[in-house]
Amino acid sequence: MKLKVELKNLQNLVIECQKCPRLVAHLKEVSNHKPKRYRDWNYWSKPLPSFGDPNAQILIVGLAPAAQGGNRTGRMFTGDRSGEWLFDALYQFGFANQPNSLRRDDDFKLDDCYITATIRCAPPKNKPLPEEIENCRPYFLKELDLLNNVKVLIPLGQIALTQTVRSLRQKGLDIPSLAFGHGKVYPLPNGQTIITTYHPSQQNTQTGKLTRPMFHRIFKMALKKLED
Ligand code: SF4
Repeated sequence: MKLKVELKNLQNLVIECQKCPRLVAHLKEVSNHKPKRYRDWNYWSKPLPSFGDPNAQILIVGLAPAAQGGNRTGRMFTGDRSGEWLFDALYQFGFANQPNSLRRDDDFKLDDCYITATIRCAPPKNKPLPEEIENCRPYFLKELDLLNNVKVLIPLGQIALTQTVRSLRQKGLDIPSLAFGHGKVYPLPNGQTIITTYHPSQQNTQTGKLTRPMFHRIFKMALKKLED
C-alpha cells in the first residue's frame, strides 16, 4: 500500500512538472492545433505519469510520449500506433488484460509489468534535447528505487537503452558500454537483466525492420528469464 502511495505521489509531481519550457510550450501548441480526426478530444497535454503494477518484475522504458497518442489520451502508449504493438505483445504474454487500449478509462491493466519513459512530455519531432532528458531523469531514478521487484528491464530502442544504462550507472552500477541490437541480453551486476529491442515505432514496424514475431520474441525471452 505504501509503495502504491509513493508511486502515486511521484506521478502527481510529474504531472505538475514544468522544468522544460520548450516542452511546456509545445504541449500547448499541440492541443491548439489538433488534427481533424481528434478535434473532439480534450488533449491531456501535460507530462505523462508512468503506470502499471507496483510489484512489477518487468519494466518497459519508452522514449517519449507521442503528441497525438499518449499526450492526447493521458496515458503512456494509449491510443498510439506503438501502443498497439506494445499492448498486444504484453497481452499475448499475460502482462496485460486487453490486447489494446485506446482511452485511459477503458479498464486496461498491466500485471507484473510497469511502463515508464525516458522523458514524459511529447517533444517536437519526437526529439528531446539532452538537457530535457537530464531534467526528467530524477523521476526515472526515483522509480528505480521504488520498483524494487524489477528483474527485467526492456528499453524500447537505442535511446531508451542508452538512457537506462546512464541512469543505472548513476545508481552506482558498474556497466560497460552495451551494444544496441534486437534481442540482446545483458545481465547487470545487481541481478537484473536488460533485454534490448527495436522500438515498435511506425518507422520500424511499417518498414519490416521490426515484425510481430521479432517483437513477441522479446517478451518470450523476458518470461523465460522470470521463470529461471
Ligand atoms: S520532460 Fe520531464 S522534466 Fe521536462 S517538463 Fe516534462 S516532466 Fe518535467
